[in-house]
Order: sequence, then C-alpha cells, then structure tokens
Amino acid sequence: MASFALLCFLLWAAACQPSLSPVGGVSPPPTVLTPAAPIASPLPETWLDVLAPEGWAPFERAMILEAREDVAWAVETLRPTRYVIDARFDPVARRVTGREMVRYVNNESVPLDAVYFRLFPNLPGFGHAEISSLTVDGVLMSPEVELGGSALRVPMMPPLVPGQVVTFELSFTVDVPAEPGPNYAALSYIDDVLALAGFYPSIPVYDDEGWNVEAPPSYGDVVYADVSFYLVRFTLPAGWKIAASGSALAVEDNRDGTATWTLVTGPMRDFNLVASPLYEVSEARVGSTTVRSFYKPEDEAGGRRALDYAAWALRYFSETFGAYPFAELDVAATPTSAGGIEYPGLIVIADHLYGLRGGFFEWAVVHETAHQWWYGLVGSDQVDEPWLDEALAQYATLMYMEAKYGRIAAAAAREAAFERPYRQLIKEGRDQPVGQPVSAFSEADYGPIVYAKGPLFFHEMRRAMGDDAFRAFLRVYLSRYRYRIATPEGLLAVAQETCHCDLTPIYAKWILGATSADPDAIPPSLMDDLANMPSCLSETCSFSLDSPRLAQ
Ligand SMILES: [Zn+2]
Repeated sequence: MASFALLCFLLWAAACQPSLSPVGGVSPPPTVLTPAAPIASPLPETWLDVLAPEGWAPFERAMILEAREDVAWAVETLRPTRYVIDARFDPVARRVTGREMVRYVNNESVPLDAVYFRLFPNLPGFGHAEISSLTVDGVLMSPEVELGGSALRVPMMPPLVPGQVVTFELSFTVDVPAEPGPNYAALSYIDDVLALAGFYPSIPVYDDEGWNVEAPPSYGDVVYADVSFYLVRFTLPAGWKIAASGSALAVEDNRDGTATWTLVTGPMRDFNLVASPLYEVSEARVGSTTVRSFYKPEDEAGGRRALDYAAWALRYFSETFGAYPFAELDVAATPTSAGGIEYPGLIVIADHLYGLRGGFFEWAVVHETAHQWWYGLVGSDQVDEPWLDEALAQYATLMYMEAKYGRIAAAAAREAAFERPYRQLIKEGRDQPVGQPVSAFSEADYGPIVYAKGPLFFHEMRRAMGDDAFRAFLRVYLSRYRYRIATPEGLLAVAQETCHCDLTPIYAKWILGATSADPDAIPPSLMDDLANMPSCLSETCSFSLDSPRLAQ
C-alpha cells in the first residue's frame, strides 16, 4: 500500500482547492427567455411511445437482469419524473443545444402553485445556460427567473393537485467553459474532454421545506434530486466515446460526420455524460454489471488500475451492502479539480491521479464508487446534510481498505485520513458539529469536519454495535431507503433498531457536538486502537477478487 501520508495530503489538497475566478471574471447574466420564440417541432413520435405506460422495456435495459423489476416497482410506487432529452454538442462553439420533455407527477400531499427547474450552468462561474422556450402541457409559458438564472419558477395555474401529471417541454443551450472554474471543472470542455454535469434543466426535491432551491457554496455537491428515468439522445462528432449514467442502446453515424447515441437509465437521481475523441476503454464484468474505465492513451496503465479498483469496490460493496442494480458503471478520467466526483452510474476521477499506484488514486475511485450506494441508491440532501453521504462513503472506503489490505493497513489509513486531521482541528480550536449544511463550513473546514470527523462517527457506531450488527444496519439502511431519500434521523433509527441499543450519546457527540478541550472526544491513537481492534469483518477478511478481465 502506498504511503498514507501521501494519501492524506492529497485528500486535503483535493478537498481544499482554492476557488478560481469565474470564467471570464464575471457571473453569467440571468437566463434570457424569449416567449415569442417559435416552438421547436415535437420530439420524435417513437420517443413519445416510450412514455406510454407499457413502454418501459428500454429503461429495463439499464438494469441487471436480477433488478429489472425495480423499474416497474419504481414507476408504480414512486411515480418518478421522466426526462426525454435530445441534445447535441458542437465542439467548435463549445455549445450544447437541446430539447427536453419532462413528465412530472405531483407526488406531494399538497397542491403545488409552481414547479421549479434548476439550471446549474448558471451558478456563478459554472457556465451559461439559456432557455429559448418552455411549454406546460403544450402551452407556452414565461417562467420567473431566480437565483441569477440558476432556478426557474414555473407557475401552475391552477395549482397542480396531488397525483396530477404535467408535461414540460424546454429548449435550451449551454455554453461549456474551456477553463476550470469554481465547479471543479464538472461542466467543462478542456483538453478534448467534455464533462457535462448538470447540463439539462432538472426538477429539484420538494420536501417539508418546500422546493429545495438555493444557491449553494462554490464547494461541495449541488444536486439534490429524486430518482427519475432518463432517455437521452446525444449527438456529437463521430468517433468520440461517451461515458454516461445508464446504458447506451445504440450509436448511429449520421451523414454530417456526427454520431447519435441513445442512452437510457434505470431510476437515477441525475444524468451526466463525459466524452472525448481520445478515450480508450477497458472493461470488466462484476456479476451482471459491466464496469468500464475511460482514459487517454497516455494514462492506460492508470486507467486499468482505476478499473481494477472500481471492480473490486463494486463487488465488495454489493456483497456487503446489497446489490448494485445497474447494468453499467463507468469510470472516466477528466481534468476535474476535485479528486473525483460521483454521478449515478458514472464517476469521474482527476486525470492527474492516474500516475499513482494506490494511495489517493485508489481512495478516490473507491470513495466515488461507494457513492453509488450512499447518494445514488440512498439519496440525501447533499447541500444541507452533506455528511450523510460523504461520511458514509468515506467509512465505506475504509471498510474496503480493511477487506482488501487487512486490519493494520486499515488502521493506518484511519489514522492518516480521519483521526490525525481531526486531532489537528481540535488542537487548532476549529472543531464544530458535523451535522450542518455545506454553507455552515468554511471551505478549509468542510473537508476535515465532514470527511474526517464524520466517518469517525460510523467507526464509533461500529465499535458500539459490533461488526455483525453494523453490517446488518447498513443492509437495512440500504433496503429501507433504496431509491428514496434518507435523513439523519432515519439513519439513526435504523441503526438503533438493528442493534437494539441507544446510539444517541454517540450521535450527540460526533454529529451534533464539538469540543475544544475534552480529551475523551479525541479518537484513540493508532497504537491504542490496534490494541483494541475489534475482530475484522468476518466475512470479508478472506475476501479476494480475481483480476478483472481486461478488454478493449
Ligand atoms: Zn464524496
């Protein structure tokens, strides 16, 4: 195992990237709406067929065979939003031009007098999006522009009653930055790699707070969404390769030198794609899922290591938490300024890490893979409760290290990645509660509090519950909130039900509490911990995975 000092340094180096100036040094102007613009011709009839109640077969193709019933279950139980998107990317203009049809059901218990869309490219420094037309059930509407154009309020007149269905159709353009901004280059076209996080207008979560529409800080994740189904046709130059949420059903070459990809997803919280004319691909099978790694030719060795890490993690997490239900998981090297970023069915990893063996490279791949469970399958409010998925993804990564490299290596990783940074925080008087919104933390404190102190809560839980109960808790937590949205209270309730014990003191200490001097709050040192190490997770001590098959 590579040096954990390196791991730790890179962990915080990645978490504490300074904000760069917005591209061009200015915030994008508010979205310009042109109600008089002609309505584009309707989306192709065959696409509309997919939206018919019996037309779910294409979405099932994004699932492994054993999980295909999840589609019908989700349709019936969750009545999720369905996005049909037709978009193309012009690399010369660095512009995406698209249309989307969104079928939305009011699943709330109250009438809605408005439905919101997020336009993430209009967050400061991200990029720039415009909507040229928007219809509601075929009627042209002028939405209200909010939050600097990053939110559109579409009035519902009369209000949308519970259970009522509405169909939106939007035409949009997105200008994709050529330089990294404060969004970790999540939306960018740099060095022949296109990354399209948040490129399409998307509906946020409505919950007990009402619509979750806010301007997030320039660090941390920005998406908080319910699971939806996506059918996407994306056109770009022929010969490019796409890594995306979901599965590609077809790639058709067009006469103008472009190719059109048809992609579908199962129930996912977001859709993203990255693409490049330079990507090479290696793949492996884990159970019924195909894992693909996308990288430039000069990163081939690293790309194959990324595949190995992701495949190992996918198998281990599927066995430990519950099955990954999707037919594909893609891992793509991009110029992101974060170590990695998670999207449903797709993770991107900073291309500068591909020269590393193990260390933070492996940590980043495994952490983002863990998010497929903690964020992807079990949703949470990433803006207001970032610890719920981040701290658990961190602890899951430590569990992987323990299963793969053994208890001593895992204890060293815990010391380097969690305990030492947390002790340093206490020493500097910077400790604060984990259970706060991203905006409550400075950018410098967000990483160590949420990513180092947060996972120590799970470690303390595991010590209190015992290994078997801790694993059972994670499995129940997944099954109870699969495709739904979890809360801190829900997580605590599942844990206490599983162990038949009172975990509120641990929760109060680690999630709600902060200390400046209490030595009891400081985690035990590495040597103390090795002496008291609980027996390793019994089923995983001997866990091994044959080298995944590599193929072009
Ligand atoms: Zn994360």
